Amino acid sequence: MQIVRRPRVIIRRCPTYDVERIRRIVREGMEELDLRPRGRTLIKPNTVASGEFFPHAYTRPEFLEGVVQALRDRDDGQVAELAVGERCGITIPTRMAFEGAGYYPMFKRLALKHYHFEEEPQLEIPLTHEGRLRDYLFTPEPVAKADFFVNCPKFKSHPWTTVTFSIKAYIGIQDDRHRLIDHDHRLNEKIRDLQFILQPELIAIDAITAGEGRMLTPTPVDLGLVILGNNQVAFDTVCCWILGIDPMTVDHIRLSHEAGFGPVDLDQIDVTGDVSLEEAQLKARGFKVGLVRVEKYFEGTNITAYAGPPPETEYTDYCWGGCPGAIEEAIEILRQYDAQCDAKIPRMHVVFGSYAGGIDAKPGEKVVFIGDCTNWKGKLNGKLVQVESLYRDRSLLDPYRARHDDIFAKMVKVTGKLALSRNEPTVRLEGCPVSVAEQVLALVGLSGLRNPYLAPEQMMQFNKAYLMTRGVTAAKRLKGQAYQVHGPCGRGDAAPQGVTTAAIAPPSLGSGTSSAQPPGGE
Ligand code: SF4
Repeated sequence: MQIVRRPRVIIRRCPTYDVERIRRIVREGMEELDLRPRGRTLIKPNTVASGEFFPHAYTRPEFLEGVVQALRDRDDGQVAELAVGERCGITIPTRMAFEGAGYYPMFKRLALKHYHFEEEPQLEIPLTHEGRLRDYLFTPEPVAKADFFVNCPKFKSHPWTTVTFSIKAYIGIQDDRHRLIDHDHRLNEKIRDLQFILQPELIAIDAITAGEGRMLTPTPVDLGLVILGNNQVAFDTVCCWILGIDPMTVDHIRLSHEAGFGPVDLDQIDVTGDVSLEEAQLKARGFKVGLVRVEKYFEGTNITAYAGPPPETEYTDYCWGGCPGAIEEAIEILRQYDAQCDAKIPRMHVVFGSYAGGIDAKPGEKVVFIGDCTNWKGKLNGKLVQVESLYRDRSLLDPYRARHDDIFAKMVKVTGKLALSRNEPTVRLEGCPVSVAEQVLALVGLSGLRNPYLAPEQMMQFNKAYLMTRGVTAAKRLKGQAYQVHGPCGRGDAAPQGVTTAAIAPPSLGSGTSSAQPPGGE
């Protein structure tokens, strides 16, 4: 597909999750954008996590159903397959996330095909653009072969990337082992590179109840909006301005713009709908976004955090995409499961990156060095402690050989690590990144908190989903279907064509969120 020259973003009022109203809004939006689905049509919701503990993290099923029905309304016989697909987060099977989101009854009722991306063959997509992190990426077959792609994210904040609208949701088009490669201080460039896999012809974001402050456990904010668009840089630009954020200060949006995927200038975007940008800004007034450094995040708690720069300091002085953000999400998960979480956690210290300052640990207080790049030298209770960096240059990482532990392997790994260091003042957690799941498990092990992965109310659902996923993937392997398919693959029409790459600049040093005044806003 070609990147549209004059993008349009449509802001519509929708106070409740009324399927028929959402269907009408999306159908009218497609008429305005002159869009009809065709070929293999793939809808990707954001289902990073779901269920009773993550009620505002995902695209609601009513919203998804409205989009599906609208696509069917606009199908003039050109659709070969209409399907929903996603890879959720935090090391749980997508089947569990779909179950928790309440998608399956809707899939059944609508006889809708759906993909759990980790169960599909992973195909190789070559990259040739200037400034890429790698020469190829892996993505699930339904993504590689999509002809008409519909991105259906949730309007949310994000602790690592400020916001998660349409562009950032591309993290869900990779399975865990490929997703975690470059999910570090170069995360924004990774998200930019993922744009070269495919582009949506339609974006429909669930901004009816938006998610403020965080990504997994956001605070709900009733924005009462459905926003539609036909270019995701333009789309994210308008969403940013709704929150009063200059999109050029959000690195993954700026980088995608510089790579030629769309404009960030409102003069180059037609904004229509029954809600003006100024009205939408009023609705979102005071909305809190992410990007809070870990030291500040844990202020006033029993955890004291210290963060030095990650490797490749020419790019950034803080690892926004890796371990520090992961512990912020980890503590929020634990808080969901235990209201007394903060009081139960003993005094401890967590250290990230190349930290050069002092660590004020009293006897008995554990110091946890998190991530391969962490290094530190200093005295703890009078004893010299030296922690060396284990970081490996990214060019040595081969996606073909990437490994990924499931949650049970992670439990064994983290539990073993903590047991070995039980009588030591320090413990080292290795990985780049150390995932949210591993940091949850580490905090559980160090504090005696309830392990959310073993919570009785979730165990049955988890085990069912886990065993189904393992069974399906094992059956496919037995039939000779490889997990990774070597060599460039055939592509669907959703592969971007004619992307005119502007000069790709590296991320600006120390860039972060900065609220600018939107045109016409306050
Ligand atoms: S080890 Fe963690 S903090 Fe260091 S670069 Fe990797 S993800 Fe970032």
